[in-house]
Amino acid sequence: MANPKYGNIFTIMPILTPSRRWQPPFYPFKKRSFSERLEEALERSFKGLIWGCRMCGNCLLQETAFICPMACPKGYRNGPCGGSTPESCCVDESRPCIWHAIYVRAEKMNRLEKLLEVFPPLDWDKAGTSALRDVYNKINSHGKLRTISTIFRSSTTERKSKWERFFKDIRQPAWWDGDAYPHPPKPHEPVSSLEKLLSEGKFVLTCEIVPPAEDNFPVLDAKLAELSGLVDAVNITDNASAIPRLSAFACAQQALTSGIEPVLQMTTRDRNRLSLQASLIGASAAGIRNLLLVTGDHPIKAIAPFSHMDAWDLDSIQAVWIARKLRDEGVFLDGRTMDHPPSYFLGSAAAPFASEPRFQALRAEKKINAGTQFIQTNLIFDLPRFEAYLEELEKRNLLSRVHLIAGVAPIKSLAAAKYLRQLPGVVIPDDIMQRLADAKNTSTEALKICLELIEKLRALPGIRGLHFMAVPNTDHLKKVLIESGLRE
Ligand code: SF4
Repeated sequence: MANPKYGNIFTIMPILTPSRRWQPPFYPFKKRSFSERLEEALERSFKGLIWGCRMCGNCLLQETAFICPMACPKGYRNGPCGGSTPESCCVDESRPCIWHAIYVRAEKMNRLEKLLEVFPPLDWDKAGTSALRDVYNKINSHGKLRTISTIFRSSTTERKSKWERFFKDIRQPAWWDGDAYPHPPKPHEPVSSLEKLLSEGKFVLTCEIVPPAEDNFPVLDAKLAELSGLVDAVNITDNASAIPRLSAFACAQQALTSGIEPVLQMTTRDRNRLSLQASLIGASAAGIRNLLLVTGDHPIKAIAPFSHMDAWDLDSIQAVWIARKLRDEGVFLDGRTMDHPPSYFLGSAAAPFASEPRFQALRAEKKINAGTQFIQTNLIFDLPRFEAYLEELEKRNLLSRVHLIAGVAPIKSLAAAKYLRQLPGVVIPDDIMQRLADAKNTSTEALKICLELIEKLRALPGIRGLHFMAVPNTDHLKKVLIESGLRE
């Protein structure tokens, strides 16, 4: 669904871009010389006026269709989040999703596929400094005369490719060296039983557990005991909805001791690049082998007082890239190497109903290229739209490159459906709402809807399992699994 406001230059131009209200530019941390300060002030004024530049010092404008991605309230540098829509940003509905605007314009410029490249996280040492200085330095290192002769002497095709290379060298520092190509895992034996089941072609079942909001392992133990034998693995959410709870890591360890395989979720919202790498190694050392790397809900969706709201250190694609390199190359982000790299099965989340299916498919490809081995989707209620998403994945030949596990919510009431419907990235069609509203027995109708969805999802190509979320209680899940024939 095209949004006409993205065609309007004034929504892109910074003076009228809402993001400018509360996303001030960065300033350098270190002392600067007078000439550097002057240079930066000029760039801040000029690029600020034209692009709403925040002086991140790591410019991506060349690749992002000349729309500054730093207007994203999560600081995403690799595409829209799972809550965005063509109409608005999920954090602040008064503004457009800047990444949707980037995709739309890149598509018009025939540069959409360029956005497959995995862009690096910010080098914060450069925040506030002049990005134009990088261009100038690059010209200097190449030689001014040589640069000019390259421009005038090369053929159009050569000039174009040299131009692309020139900017790629600037935006892809040696410590990152991101690209748009697949990076599958090295040949290996499955590291978890979830990976083993999926690699054997078995249809898997996973279920989400939200840890208790108190020091209460007995509550968790009871839940784990109920789920034992019902599902193949349990996802442990990481401060879901940006609300602190018993640590996901501690819960995942507890699951292991209870004999249930955990899928440990890790948000980049609560981690910077240091703690992410530490957590990855720690999880592996603790024997936790399934990891789901997500960005996490924005704190504005939580309870006041709110934590840091602006650019996060990493997005989920960058987290996957880092995790894959740590595991397969034994290399830290800073280039240090290790003798005993961690071992894990890497997963990502997908939001089939955010943005447009073709844009979400591009983002899925980017995740898979970066190292994602399995994907768990957000809740599926709208099958036609989900099928459109699968078609887009298939066009990119992704269904054979990743284990896709579809999200299902075994709801029991109209109130539950209403609650889920207002969550970012969840779409419940009107006809389902109507069926629930008209039902004499809502619980029976909800079960019927759930069973219909499960049956259709199981029949779709590329679906390798189901991931149950928002489960009201284990008895209900058991009923759903037995009646759908997934368990005896
Ligand atoms: S990407 Fe960074 S340097 Fe480029 S316009 Fe945006 S804030 Fe400015």
